[in-house]
Amino acid sequence: MSNDVMKVTFNGTGTSQGVPVIGCHCNVCQSKDKKDSRLRSSISLEYKDTSIVVDAGPDFRQQMLRTKNEKLDAILFTHEHKDHVAGLDDVRAYNFLTKKPLNIYCTDSVFKALKREYHYIFDPAFQYPGIPKIIRNSINKYTNFKINKLNIQPIEVFHYKLPVLGFRIEDFCYITDASYISKNEKKKLENLKVLVLNALRKEKHISHYNLEEALKLIKELKPKKAYLTHISHLMGKHEEVNSLLPENVEIAYDTLSITI
Ligand SMILES: [Zn+2]
Ligand SMILES: [Zn+2]
Ligand SMILES: [Zn+2]
Repeated sequence: MSNDVMKVTFNGTGTSQGVPVIGCHCNVCQSKDKKDSRLRSSISLEYKDTSIVVDAGPDFRQQMLRTKNEKLDAILFTHEHKDHVAGLDDVRAYNFLTKKPLNIYCTDSVFKALKREYHYIFDPAFQYPGIPKIIRNSINKYTNFKINKLNIQPIEVFHYKLPVLGFRIEDFCYITDASYISKNEKKKLENLKVLVLNALRKEKHISHYNLEEALKLIKELKPKKAYLTHISHLMGKHEEVNSLLPENVEIAYDTLSITI
């Protein structure tokens, strides 16, 4: 792989409960097609010797083992919901490998939630050997930032009333858990080669784009290619729904790798 090629791997493409859902007997949850099995949403991105992950939810450990991800420079968090942050304790594996703390990037309000969830990591009173070692980097929608040679532009989207960050890296952009994007923030989404966008299901939902809304936004933003993620079992079977989408849109599936 040339050093200028960005590789994105979908670690998970499922909504907060994952697919299959415990105890559900619907045709998606019972499907034998691997593309209908979805861990919680996350991507890995490799570019110019830098390896990052966006969101580390409850399936983080399993995802890193599945894709044999042995090098990690940073985790970026989109927002504080459990399906995006519940794997933070498992960064210990990377601390052991590198003998260094791991950098995480999140907004102040996400950090406040992390401190609550993981008091034993961040509260000096609870320090003991073997806890995750983390360096926290504060980010916000106004300021681009760099991880090694990677230029990252945060985009603020709304998840009903909760602000969430999407991330643009060169001509690639990852947006999850959105139901609204302001006109101003949409300007950051022009001329994309690849847009990843959440689309929960066909029915409307208060805090996520549904399929129709996601397709409408893709039409408006005109990326060359779009992938849908954060999929519920209520979306229907992968192959059936995927075959009905416009030519430049696909439903992502777990372990799918793309290069940009
Ligand atoms: Zn979510
Ligand atoms: Zn189901
Ligand atoms: Zn969420």
